[in-house]
Amino acid sequence: KGAVLVFHDITELKRVEQMRKDFVANVSHELKTPITSIRGFAETLLDGAMEDTELSKQFLTIILSESERLQALVYDLLELSRLEKDELKLTQKRIEIHEWIQGIITIAEQQAVKKDIEFSYTIDEQISLNGDADRLKQVLLNLLYNAINYTAEKGKVGLVIEETKDMILFKVRDTGLGIPESAKNRIFERFYRVDRARSRNTGGTGLGLAIVKHIVEAHNGEITVDSKLDEGSTFIVKLPKHL
Ligand code: ADP
Repeated sequence: KGAVLVFHDITELKRVEQMRKDFVANVSHELKTPITSIRGFAETLLDGAMEDTELSKQFLTIILSESERLQALVYDLLELSRLEKDELKLTQKRIEIHEWIQGIITIAEQQAVKKDIEFSYTIDEQISLNGDADRLKQVLLNLLYNAINYTAEKGKVGLVIEETKDMILFKVRDTGLGIPESAKNRIFERFYRVDRARSRNTGGTGLGLAIVKHIVEAHNGEITVDSKLDEGSTFIVKLPKHL
């Protein structure tokens, strides 16, 4: 019996070690890509491209957007490492949904309109809950950004906030790409991306859902996804009314 236990521990140890190695490899890769590009374009500019004003503008635009990518990545990495070190101290207070949701809806509408996506919402305005207003805002915004990102132009994105006896539910639905069955659990892992979506180059960091899951779990809640390839996805966040 003892031998089985030891064996089990070693496999677990190996698994954790492998995950750590994968993470470091992923971070390095993700950082390297924008840095290589920034450096390359800066060198080309210094090598003479600067004389061509149009070309210079084009290159500088790329340098700027790659810098923004780097910045987002570093920000998300710091955020994730804070969350994983359990430094996440929730600032808990009573959240009145009808007040809290206004800013979120404005942002979602602005993003949706850019892609000609129809954004609609059904929100029970009576609802209030205990939680960290800023963190939960981050959760909802991340899910809404993804829904808009992974849905083609003229698609639909919807938000529902409702309550059951002891839970508050956030549902973010889209008519987008959908997620293959085999990827449904993995999308919450750091840096995991479904290839099809990734090739669309949405500019995300691959860390959004990992961060979302941490925040939801810190509220003793859970997040799940229902999805059908090429039809769309619904992310459901369940939060207990009382922490
Ligand atoms: P990213 O920055 O790549 O969006 P996330 O952690 O937010 O990173 O999401 C991980 C992956 O999950 C995405 O790359 C995408 O493949 C998939 N995904 C997330 N949300 C959706 C969605 N609403 N529809 C389809 N695929 C999604």
